[in-house]
Amino acid sequence: MIKKIDHVGIAVKNLEEAMKVWEGLGLKVDEVEEVPDQKVRTAIIHVGESRIELLEPTAEDSPIARFIAKRGEGIHHIALGVGNIEEHLNKLKESGYRLIDEKPRVGAGGARIAFVHPKAVTGVLLELCERGSE
Ligand code: ZN
Repeated sequence: MIKKIDHVGIAVKNLEEAMKVWEGLGLKVDEVEEVPDQKVRTAIIHVGESRIELLEPTAEDSPIARFIAKRGEGIHHIALGVGNIEEHLNKLKESGYRLIDEKPRVGAGGARIAFVHPKAVTGVLLELCERGSE
């Protein structure tokens, strides 16, 4: 079951500056967290049922650093909140969707996440996101 848009990931060069910009819109940053697995620092902004996830690269070989070098700052991915991530991955794989992650890994906030290739999803990098506590 797909529950909602869990979050929109936005690649930024400087997290502190980006936080100021988004807080200037009237939003509040709830937490800042480093995710070593993806070589990013994230700022989570709750917006109703969804979130905005600002992503700053912490290394030059971070996927976010490569994205910014190629395309500049901007929307990096859209994440769908799902009930059982393995079930969804298997379903997509069976249907022929090209996956970046065949198995879930750990993302910000301890969520289990996996990416689907943008070439398979009309040019959108899609993340599946399972949060145990919600
Ligand atoms: Zn994400």
